[in-house]
Amino acid sequence: MPGILWFIFLMNIEIDNRLSLVQGYSCLNCGHGCRSFMVPVSRKEREKISSRCDWQAQTGTDTLFIDLPLAGFEQGAIAKKADHRCVFLDSDNLCMIHRKYSLSAKPLACQLFPFVLTPFNGNLRVGLRFDCPGVCQGTGAKLSDNLPELNRLARILYPDGINAEQFTSSLPAISKRNHTNAETFDKINNAIIETFLKVGPEFKNKIYWLTIFASHLEKVKFQKVSSEDFTGLMSLLTEGTSREAEKYNTPGKVVSKRARVLFGQILYLLGHSPEVITLGEKTGFWQKLKARLKDSAEIRMTGRVSGPLPILQDNWHSLDLSQIEQDYGPMPPAAVNLLERYILSRLTGLNYCGLNYYGYSMADGLHCLALSISAVCWLARVNAAAACRNALEYQDIEKALILADSNNGYGSALNSGSAGLRLIYLKEYITAIIFKYIPGTQLKAENK
Ligand code: SF4
Repeated sequence: MPGILWFIFLMNIEIDNRLSLVQGYSCLNCGHGCRSFMVPVSRKEREKISSRCDWQAQTGTDTLFIDLPLAGFEQGAIAKKADHRCVFLDSDNLCMIHRKYSLSAKPLACQLFPFVLTPFNGNLRVGLRFDCPGVCQGTGAKLSDNLPELNRLARILYPDGINAEQFTSSLPAISKRNHTNAETFDKINNAIIETFLKVGPEFKNKIYWLTIFASHLEKVKFQKVSSEDFTGLMSLLTEGTSREAEKYNTPGKVVSKRARVLFGQILYLLGHSPEVITLGEKTGFWQKLKARLKDSAEIRMTGRVSGPLPILQDNWHSLDLSQIEQDYGPMPPAAVNLLERYILSRLTGLNYCGLNYYGYSMADGLHCLALSISAVCWLARVNAAAACRNALEYQDIEKALILADSNNGYGSALNSGSAGLRLIYLKEYITAIIFKYIPGTQLKAENK
């Protein structure tokens, strides 16, 4: 017992200062999360919520929860109306449970959203979900204002604390078969954050740098590097790769047909809405088979560079893929700022690899980040084209990021059996993909 208490009191919630300096968060009460995802609930949570009042009368529906036979959702989820709204979401976009009782009366998943807690070395690193419009906006209360609430939630999620043994087994590898200890892992992660913030001159050079650095990480056997040599090696690695990234502006090769097909799979996986099962929806064998066949056809379509764009979103209508392959001009500075905050949150919150990113190694996680950002920029082009524009605006990027991040790391889609093989192939074309799909940065009005 004393051991358990020791861990509870030492469990620390870490919000990185470099993120806090550029990112705030206040709930916009937009109800976006309450319409977009299935909310998992445990049996205990169901019983607690059900026993509070006559919700059937309050919500106007007999079914408050549904059983989901999917992995990870054994306990079920909150029921969704036909328009995807949670049954507890009222007409003012407010949660009835929260309004009638308190924040702590809601399911844990709702209380934690949009924060992500990742255990690291006995503590919890805090990241943010950018599928939340309030997080994208990035203003409002300081992130540290949420610490008391996050502490309360951490104690519910980890009642026994996070002990070192649990953590050691979940420490992400640096690259395949290349493990290190927590201290070295953290030093490398810090070097990535520091260099990412400095490297330039454009946003796409930063993303390119992530992939060059990741490729070098794959070659170093950190187990064999002494602590005396480590600092020198890291300086060499970060300085050398930054120089290489900064002078680079044209990829050596073009995106091959096969690479475009595989990148198209990522576009599809990040570009469709997370699966939501609504009340009364038929989910039998034939419905599932029909949905699978439709998915396969749409995946094949997004792998092409011409032909009809699959209608993955309501506003994607009558567009041709060849329109999306065109140049949509540079990104507004506010959009670049948004994507930089996104990457900073993933890096400082450690949710780009390991426990909160499909168990990927650090190097593979960095490659995935680069591919995700390229996909967001492609999705933003679709938004611009759908609005009959040939230039990107801030909302194109924001909308694309909100959609992509609702799948990136949270759904199982990107974690299919073939995901690892797809990544191995795409690494060879990642530079070409970055420079084809990530645009330059628009000059600020005053500099024009
Ligand atoms: S329970 Fe409340 S907070 Fe959670 S999804 Fe439903 S309306 Fe939103």
